[in-house]
Amino acid sequence: MRTRAALLSEFGGPEQFHLETTDLECSAPDEAIVRVMACGINFHDIDIRRGASGRQIRLPLILGREIAGSIEVPARDGSGPPVGTQVAVLYFAACGSCENCITGADHMCRQLDFFGVTRNGGYAQHAVVPTRAIMPLPDGLDPVLAAAGQITFSTALHSILERGSLQPGETVLITGATGGVGSASIQVALKAGATCLAAAGTPEKAQKAIELGASTAFVLSAGGLDPYGETFRQERSERVVDLVVDTAGGDYLVAALSLLKPGGRVVIVGAHGGEVVPVDLVNIFRNEHSLVGSARAPRRVIEQALSGIAQGVYTPWVTERGPLGSLSQIHREMEERLLVGKAVIEPNQTQ
Ligand SMILES: [Zn+2]
Repeated sequence: MRTRAALLSEFGGPEQFHLETTDLECSAPDEAIVRVMACGINFHDIDIRRGASGRQIRLPLILGREIAGSIEVPARDGSGPPVGTQVAVLYFAACGSCENCITGADHMCRQLDFFGVTRNGGYAQHAVVPTRAIMPLPDGLDPVLAAAGQITFSTALHSILERGSLQPGETVLITGATGGVGSASIQVALKAGATCLAAAGTPEKAQKAIELGASTAFVLSAGGLDPYGETFRQERSERVVDLVVDTAGGDYLVAALSLLKPGGRVVIVGAHGGEVVPVDLVNIFRNEHSLVGSARAPRRVIEQALSGIAQGVYTPWVTERGPLGSLSQIHREMEERLLVGKAVIEPNQTQ
């Protein structure tokens, strides 16, 4: 069959997306065709578009990682749900047979296939999807919320509760608090009974973080040795943070360690601010600090995130939605850091 897609044929700016009609076919018997009703837009998409993801990307490619929609053509082998079933597509397809998959660590599968990265994704009216990556949407869940919430809330749940072991009554500092993952992290931390401090890039974003539920928000200064700034230190004269969710790395990570209580943890979820940093190991063992990483959530947590959204426990903060034709504009706004919250594309809407 044929579909309408935003194809990326050359790395570069947001103008590199070209709307084209393209052929779509299932090459394996366990693949189904999903009509894409919504697809979340992620910062990782910008890295891929620019050719800066650090991965081998084969072009042309249809980007888009967080797909929600309905089954239009079921798989030939009979696996997966029937025509018309509303589904979310896990943003990665695990092999299901390696030792990590067998032990439930499917997010650490040795042969992960990523939509919009290693295979075509959801910036199109339809997507070809192996049925092992399909899960039926919980009853009543709006596909736009499913697309907006899959990566954001599963990442927040996994990083804060599983990797960061946040306990009720603890204090957590969340950086990048007004982004998709950051705003989800505030919700997850509050539901867990924690006090939430937020760090944001501008005074306006700091104010937004307060509106989202943070009890205090700080404006990060760009770079330097003390990105959390004097304000933080004056108000917090002692180490008061149990957990830092660090999305930036670099100087931010070094500064985060200086904020931790004894027994405190830093969960590293990104490193755009610097990938190699000096760390005082004496400080770490004397205070029994933990530095842990968080990559992506297993399927079990993604299911938990989507059912939490369906039940109204969590609400993705969707700030922008539009048809395929608005993709370049949304990418531009995200790249210029003008967008807070989460943007979603609706490929089967005309406007
Ligand atoms: Zn596997």
